[in-house]
Amino acid sequence: MSDNHWPRAIVFVDMDAFFASIEQLDEPSLRQRPVAVTNGMRGTCIITCSYEARARGIYTGMRIKEAQQLCPQLIQRPARPQRYAQLATRMSDALRDEISPDLEIFSVDEAFLDVSHCQKLLGSPQSIAAQTKAVVNRAVNLPCTVGVSGDKTSAKFIAKEHKPSGIGVLPPGQVRQRLREVPVTKLCGIAEGIGRFLAARGVYTCGDMERLPIGIMGKRFGYPGRRIWLMCQGLDPDPVHTSIAAPKSMGHGKVMPPDTIDSNIIHMYLLHMSEKLATRLRRYKLQAKTFSIGLLTRQGWLGDTYRTATSTTDGAVISSLTRQMMDEHWRGEGVLQVHITALDPYPADGQLEMFVEEHEGRDAVNKTVDTINQRYGELALGPARLLKRSDMPNVISPAWKPKGPRQTI
Ligand SMILES: [Mg+2]
Repeated sequence: MSDNHWPRAIVFVDMDAFFASIEQLDEPSLRQRPVAVTNGMRGTCIITCSYEARARGIYTGMRIKEAQQLCPQLIQRPARPQRYAQLATRMSDALRDEISPDLEIFSVDEAFLDVSHCQKLLGSPQSIAAQTKAVVNRAVNLPCTVGVSGDKTSAKFIAKEHKPSGIGVLPPGQVRQRLREVPVTKLCGIAEGIGRFLAARGVYTCGDMERLPIGIMGKRFGYPGRRIWLMCQGLDPDPVHTSIAAPKSMGHGKVMPPDTIDSNIIHMYLLHMSEKLATRLRRYKLQAKTFSIGLLTRQGWLGDTYRTATSTTDGAVISSLTRQMMDEHWRGEGVLQVHITALDPYPADGQLEMFVEEHEGRDAVNKTVDTINQRYGELALGPARLLKRSDMPNVISPAWKPKGPRQTI
């Protein structure tokens, strides 16, 4: 095993002064200035504050009156929870899409990603940590700190050591040594009560824990006790708890050169969207059998809903439905946009249909294509006709409805 491949690799992302950073992002005059966020303008306690405020001794939980005495230039801003949630969602969507679908939202501004299986695609854990930071930056343009290690607790620990705006890397083989002198209560999830229990048994640092039999912790605290014992050795067994509900639908659309009437070009766009949708289904380990396929013309949407015999994640299968749609509904109208939506995506795991023999060859091909495209960019490999595809932007049309407004024509 090379030094750069870890048996388990967990990334922890922690936004720096998240709410205050958003206030500074949205209102440039607040940048580089001490900002405190409170619950409304009448909130008495500081929910969070910018690093400029922290440098002046202000901290989360401090009373605003006290903070204003300490720092008269302090700017108070009321919290805007909806805006914070919007950016948190944008950030987690980007991380799922570009780093790993195995993502756990730990709090509004913290997330764990299991990237153990991404090392072939994305490179070393060090590099994945840097890519994670870049993805957050591109998605929300806010500062964050990233930690990477072999388990959740160690990743969180090393991130905290590199705040703000840093990248902490702690290879699994070095965790035990690194934590040896660290007080056990510094690890996330070890409360004061447990700290007192341990202190009474002579355990103050993570290194001390090795002398305490794991059974004592297990007997007193159950699984959490055993977990803490392991956490101190850099062996936190807790998995990244992904909690993505299958989306109700998943779609891709694209704007075309206005009033396109060349059927070859329309077919090429539909093929591109079919491949994009199929890639996305596979990426989220979903499959679907009902697809809504539409063309926007100056008269409105043309199209219909089509079903495959068995669930699919194959762009070629979806594309054959788009041909059927064209044959049935398109009569030479100029087309402005194309759109394909999977209406019933559901988890592919454990579904018998995935193992139908005729699909196996295609599945292997698709897996290889995904691997290459994730490394070299979308559709580096794909159906030959797509090599000529346009660079028009992808769109999700607000007018598009699953049934299609065709009835209104
Ligand atoms: Mg934070």
